[in-house]
Amino acid sequence: MHLTSRGFPLFLTFDLDAETMWTARDPSYANRPVLMSQGAYGWKVGTDRILKLLARYGLKTTFFIPGLIIDQRPDLMERILEGGHEIAHHSYTHSWILNLTPEQEREEMQKGYDAIKRVAGHPPRGWRSPAAEISPITMPMLVEYGFDYSSNFFDDDSPYLHMVEGRKTKIVELPFRWVLDDAPFFQYSIVLPGRTMQAPSALSEAWTAEFDVLYAEKRMMMVGMHPQIIGQPSRIGVLERLIEHALKHGDVWIGRCDEMVEAMRPGLEKAAA
Ligand SMILES: [Zn+2]
Repeated sequence: MHLTSRGFPLFLTFDLDAETMWTARDPSYANRPVLMSQGAYGWKVGTDRILKLLARYGLKTTFFIPGLIIDQRPDLMERILEGGHEIAHHSYTHSWILNLTPEQEREEMQKGYDAIKRVAGHPPRGWRSPAAEISPITMPMLVEYGFDYSSNFFDDDSPYLHMVEGRKTKIVELPFRWVLDDAPFFQYSIVLPGRTMQAPSALSEAWTAEFDVLYAEKRMMMVGMHPQIIGQPSRIGVLERLIEHALKHGDVWIGRCDEMVEAMRPGLEKAAA
């Protein structure tokens, strides 16, 4: 039996970092318009190309978006929500958590939370760290803010419930690994770490192999993508090929993180009891 009655859970998630991918590393990059334009591609072109593809397959998924981008791009947020997608928390400015004071980290949390509440009409359900790091106060804050899920850790191929400060919580972890991310394959920049430009087929090969094993083992698959990367013409086909491959199996559920987490939680709670 797969983890949900609707089948194997395949999570297609999109981190719409846009310009914050650069400014989070160095605020002075804001004065370099050509660098900034590489992030702008995410909201100007990439996201709509992804939305069109998802609509063609009738899929609803999850976008993790820094609050600053939510505030700057209300029309795009409307199109994402109109498509039935979920907007989840991805900080406010995408600042590196380890460089923040506890007060600054709390401010990032509150402002990102408020931005989603304003645009979606309800609080965010899920949280993903900018740049894959957390601090000692992060997990307790997720409990305090009432989050249902986190998608941050690299330690499993199946979801699990978090223990925070020695206590069981309702927070479901949707784990992830770098091979399931488009950036290590394609991120190319003169100032960011990682200058790789692999063929789209390399990523297709990796994701198909990941899918086949995870499906056979009845686990889950969490794919993390960036509209400024996967939304480019030569790469969008990688996403489409993954969708096609998955849908050949009759029992695969591609959906929003919040809905799939609710479907999986009873089984996880039973297993943890
Ligand atoms: Zn990000």
